[in-house]
Amino acid sequence: ASGYSLLRDPRHNKGLAFTEKERDAHYLSGLLPPVVLSQQLQEKKLMNSIRQYQLPIQKYMAMMELEERNERLFYKLLIDNVEELLPVVYTPTVGEACQKYGSIFRRPQGLYISLKEKGRVLDVLKNWPERSIQVIVVTDGERILGLGDLGCQCLPITIDVGTNNEKLLNDEFYIGLKQRRATGQEYSELLHEFMSAVKQCYGEKVLIQFEDFANHNAFELLAKYRTSHLVFNDDIQGTASVVLAGVVSALKILGGSLADHKFLFLGAGEAGTGIAELIALEMSKRTNTPLEECRKRIYLVDSKGLIVKSRLESLQHFKQPWAHEHESVKTLLEAVNTLKPTVLIGASGMGKTFTKEVIEAMSSFNEKPLIMALSNPTSQAECTAEEAYTWSKGKAIFASGSPFDPVEYEGKVFVPGQGNNAYIFPGFGLGVVMSGAIRVHDDMLLAASEALAEQVTDAEYEKGLIYPPFSKIRKISAEIAAKVAAKAYELGLASRIPRPASLVKYAESCMYSPVYRNYR
Ligand code: NAP
Ligand code: MN
Repeated sequence: ASGYSLLRDPRHNKGLAFTEKERDAHYLSGLLPPVVLSQQLQEKKLMNSIRQYQLPIQKYMAMMELEERNERLFYKLLIDNVEELLPVVYTPTVGEACQKYGSIFRRPQGLYISLKEKGRVLDVLKNWPERSIQVIVVTDGERILGLGDLGCQCLPITIDVGTNNEKLLNDEFYIGLKQRRATGQEYSELLHEFMSAVKQCYGEKVLIQFEDFANHNAFELLAKYRTSHLVFNDDIQGTASVVLAGVVSALKILGGSLADHKFLFLGAGEAGTGIAELIALEMSKRTNTPLEECRKRIYLVDSKGLIVKSRLESLQHFKQPWAHEHESVKTLLEAVNTLKPTVLIGASGMGKTFTKEVIEAMSSFNEKPLIMALSNPTSQAECTAEEAYTWSKGKAIFASGSPFDPVEYEGKVFVPGQGNNAYIFPGFGLGVVMSGAIRVHDDMLLAASEALAEQVTDAEYEKGLIYPPFSKIRKISAEIAAKVAAKAYELGLASRIPRPASLVKYAESCMYSPVYRNYR
């Protein structure tokens, strides 16, 4: 290949870091200014320039430009500055980027499979240059964060079946299919064709991660494909795993065992019922009690109030296990006051719903209420960190889906945790892939939870943290991957034989390194 195209290939481009020898050998002479920079210096320079931008969306765009120009440097920045850059490339800024996706769209990344491709999805997959694929993240864009239907998006794979977002339908610059969402048979046929084509193209062991599907489809797809494909729904299962980890870890601060606590959720969708189910499963294993009994310690409120027996007939099937014998309750505040939960979890996608009264009530009958405001992005958080700490008068143990800065309250600094599935999906995916697992089992989610909870140090507990800092994500991910893989082997679901002696070491050896390679 010519030097000119080397510079335009983000996979191989090193920019000013190409050495003199490389420049000579690869026809780069004259195509670059004379200076040779180290990757460290490039990183420093870029971090300086990213920090100059005022708006998070500008930082986001600078990062995306870097990814399009020099992939390794992009990941180097991300790995070395994860706490600073995660809020830029992930929640909350990514929410704004998704809302503006059509207008900031520059060049396609990943694959777009729309209704137009029905009948030839396999051919579309074959247009992708890579043959060996280990993980696919796929969305249909119907429930992006807590922001609703954002239509055609950029993910490794977008299934475009239309959008019901009026604004996008009327936008002359919208990049997706301008039609209302296909549903029913038309929808499931395209999805089925996709699922079959993926298996045919990449084999049994490609992990398909469903991302930000609306809940009716999310539950159905997971139930339909979990026995025939290697599938993982991040919003249901990843979220469940990260929240269970936070709860288990918080027990060290709250005291009591898991089954001693009472849980109340605002939101009974993918996240809410997914978390509730995994907590109940863990409780059931720990106490040797039937799952149905454990579910009774967990209550959920949806947009119509507390989920109770009298509503059973009209409930979507994923809510039915949570319909307990209880009088009807309309509001969250009432539910808090009558049930007196020890743990309050928000997964409603509806901001500002943990009001002053709700937080005050939680702290009136709890020494240390655990409050998790999981909805993303920040605008949709059920409450802010500051609200949780001030309204509870410093009593709350708090975590949120999107990051909040530490809060000073009456001279004490409170550091909120970030209860985000980003702790789970990298390590979980790695564990699945490196063991060659052929199916995802709930026990693997429990294993991931356990591994994450174990990563919190005493010093972090001292600060009131229930999650380890994101700066340790590579180590955390190796531990999670190892535990997930170990579980896959134990369950007979792993196909990579022989089992590596040290799964942690093996996980580390499988990880991506952003350090430049030498081109001879
Ligand atoms: P979903 O399946 O659409 O569920 C939303 C639930 O909230 C539904 O049960 C809905 O009630 C309920 N709800 C909406 N408005 C409400 C209100 N005003 N009062 C009470 N309940 C209300 O969505 P999801 O996938 O669970 O996601 C929900 C939120 O969680 C999103 O903001 C998402 O970003 C966030 N999330 C965070 C993480 C994380 O890692 N932190 C992971 C996944 C999701 P109905 O059922 O009655 O409509
Ligand atoms: Mn998601």
